[in-house]
Amino acid sequence: MIPGNFEYHAARGVDEALQLLSRYGEDGKLLAGGHSLLPMMKLRFAEPAHLIDLNPIEELRGVREDGDHLLIGTMTTESALQQSDLVARHCPVLPEVVALIADPQVRNRGTIGGDALLGDPGNDHPAVLMALEAEFVIRGPKGERREPANGFYLGPYLTRLADDELATAIRIPKCPPGQGYAYCKLKRKTGDYATAAACCLLSLAGGTVEKARLSLTNVGPTALRAEDAEDLLQGQTLDDGRIEQAAQAAMSICEPAEDLRGSPEYKTHIAGEMTRRALRLALQRARGQ
Ligand SMILES: Cc1cc2nc3c(=O)[nH]c(=O)nc-3n(C[C@H](O)[C@H](O)[C@H](O)COP(=O)(O)OP(=O)(O)OC[C@H]3O[C@@H](n4cnc5c(N)ncnc54)[C@H](O)[C@@H]3O)c2cc1C
Repeated sequence: MIPGNFEYHAARGVDEALQLLSRYGEDGKLLAGGHSLLPMMKLRFAEPAHLIDLNPIEELRGVREDGDHLLIGTMTTESALQQSDLVARHCPVLPEVVALIADPQVRNRGTIGGDALLGDPGNDHPAVLMALEAEFVIRGPKGERREPANGFYLGPYLTRLADDELATAIRIPKCPPGQGYAYCKLKRKTGDYATAAACCLLSLAGGTVEKARLSLTNVGPTALRAEDAEDLLQGQTLDDGRIEQAAQAAMSICEPAEDLRGSPEYKTHIAGEMTRRALRLALQRARGQ
């Protein structure tokens, strides 16, 4: 319950946050919604000597259009995502995901950036951003760069973000009208991390699958993109046999850790079931049903 002592810095802008990160190196930690970092500090799993608070930086909040992309500031809260008309119109899978994350109080503080950048395999945004082919807009001492969500996650709490960098926004291609989508998550109770979850995005052309994206949450050291399963779906008419093949392919890449949510075998089985459900729901929506 009692965190260690630390010095607090309210960053007034991105440049100031970057200067503070460079100054304090490994001793400095960015504070976003605080709902992963503070629990870890209260248990003394994390003991940063300096907290660099991003909350005063208004430019990091909000959703806007950028041509055929949505640009979501990393400090945008889960609640703000739920209330955004732009997100509902151009990326309808996101509100579905957010409604399954934590609880209303946590969603009022927790940010999409904190969730996606922490590298916790239990978090829900990473797999969804992989399926959406999103990119992180990253600022560091050498300037700005973009990093695709696919390939960003290297291991538990390990990403391609360097210690002296921060992400300012997440760039998501607008979802084409009529695209089917689904996020299916099994959890023990409201506010629990997934036993397993699957994200599916599906576009149809004349009854066959034009494009399929499938990804999985909490069944490996990182979020997983199920590319072999996607290949099995592309160009095909979806029937029960195809859906089963895709579910089996998704299960074959699972490497879940054993914990109180179940054994690796159980979690892999659940990942398959979540994949079947996500595919069926996305298919229904793509057919306008
Ligand atoms: C009871 C409870 C239930 C929860 N259930 C779920 C759940 O079901 N699904 C789920 O996905 N999450 C869940 N969470 C986690 C919650 O959504 C967290 O808020 C989220 O994981 C972290 O976001 P944050 O904004 O709170 O980040 P913080 O805790 O403030 O930050 C975490 C870390 O992210 C990094 N970071 C943050 N912002 C940036 C940035 N702009 N650039 C670079 N690095 C950055 C930093 O390293 C920072 O230390 C739960 C949390 C609680 C307390």
